[in-house]
This record gives sequence, C-alpha cells and structure tokens, in this order.
Amino acid sequence: MKPLYLSLNRFLKERFGKRVQKIPLDAGLGCPNRDPLTRKGGCIYCNPQGSGTGAFFKGLSIKEQMESGIKWAKRRYKAKAFMPYFQAYSNTYGDIEHLKNLYRQCLEFPGMVGVSIGTRPDCVTHEVLELISDIFKDKMVWMEYGLQSASDKTLSLINRGHTVKDFEDAVKLTRKFPFLICAHVIFGLPGEGEKEMMKTIEFLRDIGVDGIKFHELYVVKDTPLHRLYKKGEYKSIEQREYARFVAKAISYLPEKTVIQRLTGDPLREELVAPDWARDKQTTIKMIKDFLKQFKSP
Ligand code: SF4
Repeated sequence: MKPLYLSLNRFLKERFGKRVQKIPLDAGLGCPNRDPLTRKGGCIYCNPQGSGTGAFFKGLSIKEQMESGIKWAKRRYKAKAFMPYFQAYSNTYGDIEHLKNLYRQCLEFPGMVGVSIGTRPDCVTHEVLELISDIFKDKMVWMEYGLQSASDKTLSLINRGHTVKDFEDAVKLTRKFPFLICAHVIFGLPGEGEKEMMKTIEFLRDIGVDGIKFHELYVVKDTPLHRLYKKGEYKSIEQREYARFVAKAISYLPEKTVIQRLTGDPLREELVAPDWARDKQTTIKMIKDFLKQFKSP
C-alpha cells in the first residue's frame, strides 16, 4: 500500500539507502525574541529551554552531545548515518566565529550525512548561510524556519516578533543556496480556526517549502499563555480536531513535501494543557485515520 505521506525517515532512507538518525543538539545560542537585551519578551508559549533538550545548561559541548546522541541512536535504531539537528532556540543567532566553531564540532563524526539548523526567519543572513554552505559543503542541509502562522495578526498576538514577509525573505535568501527548507507551523493558536490554519498551509504550498513540521499549541507552566489559560482567555485545541486539521493540511500539500513531524512533544513536568499532548501515539493514529478518509476516492 502506498504510504499516506512522505515521512522524514522514508525521505532520508531513499536518499542515503539506510536509516539516518537526527541527533538533537542544544548550542545555547539564545533567541533574539527572548534575549534580555532586546526586551521583546519572547513568544507567549516559549518554554525555558527554547524547545530544546536543555543539554547546554548541563554543560555539555556540541561534541559531547553528538557523542552521546550517536551512541543512543546506534543502540536504539542500529543507525549508521546521522544528521545533527541544531534544535534549541535560534541557531543562527550569534557571532559568526562562534557559529563556525559550533557547527564545525559536528563534522568529525563518521556517518554524518547532513545537518538541520532550526532558527527564526528574521535571524538569518547571507553571511550565515554562506558559512553553513562552506562548512557543510558535501552534506544535505535543512534550514528549519519557525513560521507558525501565515497571519500577521496572529504573529503579533503571540508576540512572535517577526512577520510573514520576514519568512518570505528568508525563503528567498535560502533558495540561493543548495539547501532544503522546512517550515514549522502551530495549530490551535489563539484567534485561529480551520480557515486560518488552512490559509497557512496554502501559503506554504504556494511558496514551495520542502518540508513541514506540525505542532499543536500546548500551554507550558509560567508562560504568558499559561496566564491567559488560567483566566479562561485561551482554550486548547481538541485532539480530534487537531488530527483532522493536520490530515487535511497534508492532503493540501504536494506528495513530495516531507512531513517531518505530526505532533508536538512537550515535557511532562512542564505541560499544563491539553492533556492529550502527552499521548502522541493516539494523535498520530487519528491523523493517519483521517488521512485515509481524505485520500480515499
Ligand atoms: S522563537 Fe523560539 S526560542 Fe525564541 S521566543 Fe519564540 S519560541 Fe522562544
């Protein structure tokens, strides 16, 4: 039976002929939207780790994180090929020499076939992309940009600190390099319903990104979103609704779009709502069931 969508695992296996395991890294680079110097305050849902592993705060260098990540991937998946993923915060935010030093720490590992760099669309320059291109010249490079919504009204409501135009500019700039582009989107943002979420997907389809990561908005303790939630001013998206929207979104996209993620992965100890965000497997099953419905003639 034909797969319902192109997963990252399948895409990488087709490219490299073997399983490729992503190794999440925390370079501790911070983020211009929550840097105390810029006083912007951060996205209203941002957790203290900037959606990363927190490894930087435990004092682990990139090299040490790579070593332990590869060890784990070999044990767990018998993986022989790896793709470091600069995940936490904004991984192009920093002095160019510092970035060079961080990126280069991944290079010495055998089996390293590519790299993924997560950042904000307003935090990328030609100079940084050139650096990435020089360092990872014979590797597959994914640039991951957080868009979250294609509505400036929503972006302002969640205090993203960038606009849709910033994302468009980042895509244009990135297309000058032989890189792949993955967009992050969030469903269930305040003020958004099905119409707004599908508009975001249509925008991404039209701009032609290579991959998408889907996340539900979840409430993390002690964030501005948590305060809204406590006052009853924000209500989380329902699990079934989320699954249906994700399936519908996938059915809108070209088949070659790599679906890198179907749902978020909150830390149990920091999650306030929705409860179902802890139950990834059920959500994924629901999405697949909806996809079968959407795809059946
Ligand atoms: S862009 Fe990411 S790290 Fe920066 S404030 Fe928003 S959620 Fe936090």
